[in-house]
Amino acid sequence: MKKIGFIGLGVMGGAIVTHLLQAGFELHVYNRTQAKMQPYVALGAISENSPQEVAAHAEIIFTMVGFPQDVKYVYFGENGIFKSDIAGKYLVDLTTSTPTLAKEIFQEATLRGAHAMDAPVSGGDLGAKNGTLTMMVGGNLADFEILTPIFEIFTSTLNLQGPAGSGQHTKMANQIMIAGTMTGLTELLVYAYAAGLDLEKVLATVGGGSAANWSLTNYAPRILAQDFTPGFFVKHFVKDLKIALDEAEKMNLQLPATQQALKMYEELAKDYPNSGTQSLIKLFWPEGTPKK
Ligand code: NAP
Repeated sequence: MKKIGFIGLGVMGGAIVTHLLQAGFELHVYNRTQAKMQPYVALGAISENSPQEVAAHAEIIFTMVGFPQDVKYVYFGENGIFKSDIAGKYLVDLTTSTPTLAKEIFQEATLRGAHAMDAPVSGGDLGAKNGTLTMMVGGNLADFEILTPIFEIFTSTLNLQGPAGSGQHTKMANQIMIAGTMTGLTELLVYAYAAGLDLEKVLATVGGGSAANWSLTNYAPRILAQDFTPGFFVKHFVKDLKIALDEAEKMNLQLPATQQALKMYEELAKDYPNSGTQSLIKLFWPEGTPKK
């Protein structure tokens, strides 16, 4: 059985590592804040001191860090993955990052005889915990087919979208949609409350009709329960919307609704960068969800 490396044990990475350990793989892990490795070491993972060491000990190396600059650092930085001999190995970046960086990693990996894929995911913290993520992959078909059985351990939907960078472009398309569902959910609640409606009844009703969507199903109950923990960090959604708008600009596209969503999330991020994205409601209800 192949040895797996995993760099970045946050909300998402930690849950995915747990599935891989449960599937019986030998896991070599590294996280910047080393204490975060402990729960996974207790489950059987082997802790390493750097991305370079992870790459030296594993044959398939996953990365799931926060921002593109973190991705750049774990691949190209001192003690990074590319400091190891990676010939014949597989590198899979699960982070939501830029298509440009995905292509740079692919080129560098190819030069060194390795195989690289950009493979961002969707489905949130619950999708990661339940092993039901959606994965969007950029890279070569042969590599994708070899790793599909491993991807299937923590995903329920996965597709090769095209060459390197296509996974990240697909994730940007996904985030453009999420910008709409999150702002829509927020304004739905604000409007329904102002109209004197019973919010739970409204959600149960519209959630059964054509307004049904993942944000409503997963985040509305958290908003009503005053639960603003992440989930999906506000700071990461700001990052994603900026990448999406940068890429759109390169294609001479204007996306006014996504621009408005970014403005709202940038405003929110001044006070709540580490809250979950459902806290957008705080722009309207700074004191929290009103009682009936
Ligand atoms: P997170 O909890 O902040 O996890 C990121 C982890 O990466 C942290 O543990 C961080 O370590 C580690 N890290 C950062 N730089 C590192 C480095 N140089 N070396 C080693 N480890 C490093 O974030 P998350 O929610 O898991 O999200 C991770 C990525 O997935 C983000 O790009 C996000 O946009 C994307 N994503 C998230 C969701 C979601 O619902 N949460 C869904 C889909 C995609 P520290 O502990 O030191 O900070």
